Amino acid sequence: MQQPVGAKKGEIEFRKKLYEQEVLGEKKFDDEFSGEKLLEIVRNRVAKTYDQIGRLQERGITTSPYVEIGAERCQRSLAMENELGCHGAATDISFYSLKSCDYYGGVLHYDRAPLRICCDAYNLPFLSNSVPFLFCYEALHHFPDPAPVARQVYRVLAPGGCFFFDEEPLGGKMRFDLYKVGKIHSPENLAKSKIRTLSDALFGNPSCNEAEYGIIENHRLSLGSWRSALSTFDKNEVFVKTLKSLKRNPLETDLFDEKSYLKRVARHLFGGGVSGCCFKAGNAKNMNLGIEDVIVCPECLSSNAETKLGRRKGVFCCRKCGENYPIVDGVVFLFSRATLNELYPEMLDRIQSAFPQESASQCFGAGAK
Ligand SMILES: [Zn+2]
Repeated sequence: MQQPVGAKKGEIEFRKKLYEQEVLGEKKFDDEFSGEKLLEIVRNRVAKTYDQIGRLQERGITTSPYVEIGAERCQRSLAMENELGCHGAATDISFYSLKSCDYYGGVLHYDRAPLRICCDAYNLPFLSNSVPFLFCYEALHHFPDPAPVARQVYRVLAPGGCFFFDEEPLGGKMRFDLYKVGKIHSPENLAKSKIRTLSDALFGNPSCNEAEYGIIENHRLSLGSWRSALSTFDKNEVFVKTLKSLKRNPLETDLFDEKSYLKRVARHLFGGGVSGCCFKAGNAKNMNLGIEDVIVCPECLSSNAETKLGRRKGVFCCRKCGENYPIVDGVVFLFSRATLNELYPEMLDRIQSAFPQESASQCFGAGAK
């Protein structure tokens, strides 16, 4: 099952409002994080990314070039660029989230930015077998089923490459939607007691602004759907942390192969947080390709052809079909024309006007129509 268009549009609309609130200082929500709290969260995410991906580097895993899926405010890609010596692409379906990269880069005093690509995770605009490292945080549960995204990730992964993900939910059986819990980011919810937190986790039905915009929050993903989605990969090191707030977790289980019956029972009842590394078989070759070298034309991709995009003066262009993809406010829109019309009709004029005419002739000049 695929993410419906309504959910994608909801995501775009919601994140636009968040951008207006966070970056432009306009009041849009009463129950989203305040500026100060948000910066604390952003800094914590940077620190966690530095720690987790730094450890993968210590293991000898190649982490550059990379692609981040569902990059949102780009804080994690900013950490990749400025703290971990990597260069890659931050992708998201929300133009406004990606646009806020400049703001957060400034706040964090970073001077390097990822390539920002507005695209759909169901059609990642990258060559097959080309990128050694893909990663995401709290992104896969925004899809009805993580399997189609996992297949895209696998397609793009270079042989020997690694997909790292974290902060994803596994639903447990011990959940009863007896009452509605306040918005998860609201001040009341953040200030609640530990007993109330436990009670809400077991008996409450959580709510958030995302859900009101039709965005999918799939907190009940089952063991079966995780296993089925990740079985696309050739090797998995994926773990579930039941009682995920504990530092040294006595209930961590292997998603695919857990020996302890007691731990499996606890997981079955309470679910947990899912995280891990998934690998593609083969030898990691140093192909010496940068992320800009492996971007393919979304228009051609929609008819299953992979055509590498060229670049002329800040415009990505396809010599085969003649389509052009200009960069708007630091973000390149990489959708097929039909999808762009569907998701960003209001951006069409801006995208046209951002396209410099003289580079059009250079792009079209190579014999394409
Ligand atoms: Zn093309």
